Amino acid sequence: MSSIPNTAIRPRVVIVGCGFGGLEAARALRGSAIDVTVVDKTNHHLFQPLLYQVATAGLSAPAIAAPVRHLFRKQPNVTTLLGEVERIDVAERQVLLQGGDALPYDHLIVAAGATHSYFGRDDWAAFAPGLKTLDDAFEIRRRILLAFEAAERENDPARRAAWLNFVVVGGGPTGVEMAGTLAEIARHTLPGEFRHIDPASAKIILLEGGTRVLQAMPEALSQRAKEQLEKLGVEVRVDARVTAIDATGLTVAGPAPGGDPAATSYTIPSQCIVWGAGVAASPLGRLLAEATGSTTDRAGRLVVEPDLSIPGHPEISVVGDLAAAKSHVPGQEPTPVPGVSPGAKQMGRAAAANVLRRLAGQPSQPFRYRDYGNLATIGRNAAVVDLASPMGPVRFSGYFAWLFWLFAHVYFLIGFRNRLVVLMDWGWAYWSFARYARVVTGIEGAKKQLQE
Ligand SMILES: Cc1cc2nc3c(=O)[nH]c(=O)nc-3n(C[C@H](O)[C@H](O)[C@H](O)COP(=O)(O)OP(=O)(O)OC[C@H]3O[C@@H](n4cnc5c(N)ncnc54)[C@H](O)[C@@H]3O)c2cc1C
Repeated sequence: MSSIPNTAIRPRVVIVGCGFGGLEAARALRGSAIDVTVVDKTNHHLFQPLLYQVATAGLSAPAIAAPVRHLFRKQPNVTTLLGEVERIDVAERQVLLQGGDALPYDHLIVAAGATHSYFGRDDWAAFAPGLKTLDDAFEIRRRILLAFEAAERENDPARRAAWLNFVVVGGGPTGVEMAGTLAEIARHTLPGEFRHIDPASAKIILLEGGTRVLQAMPEALSQRAKEQLEKLGVEVRVDARVTAIDATGLTVAGPAPGGDPAATSYTIPSQCIVWGAGVAASPLGRLLAEATGSTTDRAGRLVVEPDLSIPGHPEISVVGDLAAAKSHVPGQEPTPVPGVSPGAKQMGRAAAANVLRRLAGQPSQPFRYRDYGNLATIGRNAAVVDLASPMGPVRFSGYFAWLFWLFAHVYFLIGFRNRLVVLMDWGWAYWSFARYARVVTGIEGAKKQLQE
């Protein structure tokens, strides 16, 4: 096992993960007399809120991902490493990378994020990929586009119908935006390009196990979201609990809509299922919990102290989706911080500020989350917005909500070039309905799928 050389005697901060939390933490340490090492298993910072656009061929990958090394080119105290963290040796204060390298630290900020959860049915992953990384987005895009290709070649009506059934599991923000955009592709982008099928006849079904979509939103906005989805051509089924998924489709508990009311389950044949139902903490959370004797919540997130450190380990902070953190407002009961990008960014900045305080011999401060509200897009001209303001919540939906959502997301994208590219691509797509990021690679897998 080799140790990455460090010749300086300055304090060493290692940041694991360069998503929203890790990037903000590293940026907040700019100009300090600290050596920062940022290690990520990918070479890019990913803007996950627009990942569904890559999965649905609206944007190309570089528009929503920025090379980590490039992001820190003007921050000389940051060293960037590409590597997967396998273990954290808490006693020796070392982060151990795949391949054996060790990164010594004085302070550690862990921002490794979350992954999909199939609620104990990991075998479903092969048939219903989730959306978390660029690789996931490419795989989903491949399946969507190839399903239309296979339907065009299929002579058997039942098999053709199965190719044209697109099912999204989970009515959270990712499921809602995937379903809405799939409907737009089927109804507006593809018609005219096929000779044997009518892409507009594709069925887009959104299955939600709870009683309403977008459960984090107020009930009235959930209702508006459902109406907007249905207007776009999505069939929304609530109280629809998936009990099985395999290569032919999925099974849902209860009677089918309009079917035999005594039936205990029904099946939906489909070759393109997208999973947006469950989130679990990165596996690093469990490893860190074992190493430190700390606890995790049901989703595997580490339960942290008010200042985001691990109990008994003030030198280790956990931020973002990996942390079960609470917001501490003086005089009020602490409240859970939601797993959203503003939460991760604010925690990253707060953890970095606490590192600087500790190095200056000052006490660390509890984390306070500033909630600016919640946005979700549904599709073209359709979104819901729930903003927090000193005068109370501001809620709206429809075209202006969609415009608000659009500009907010462009504003928060990393990099001026990306903002410009996304605005131009969306502007063009808005008028033409075209989606140009439709090149499918992995053609061997594709051929197999078409022949099956
Ligand atoms: C499809 C999708 C849509 C979303 N939409 C929204 C939205 O509209 N608004 C919103 O506010 N939030 C949204 N979110 C949630 C938001 O993206 C997350 O809350 C946020 O990314 C969490 O930041 P993080 O830094 O904790 O983790 P991430 O941003 O996920 O970053 C984690 C980083 O750690 C790296 N990593 C993981 N494990 C290791 C390891 N072992 N070794 C090295 N590196 C590792 C990963 O490569 C990654 O770069 C969405 C999430 C998804 C998946």
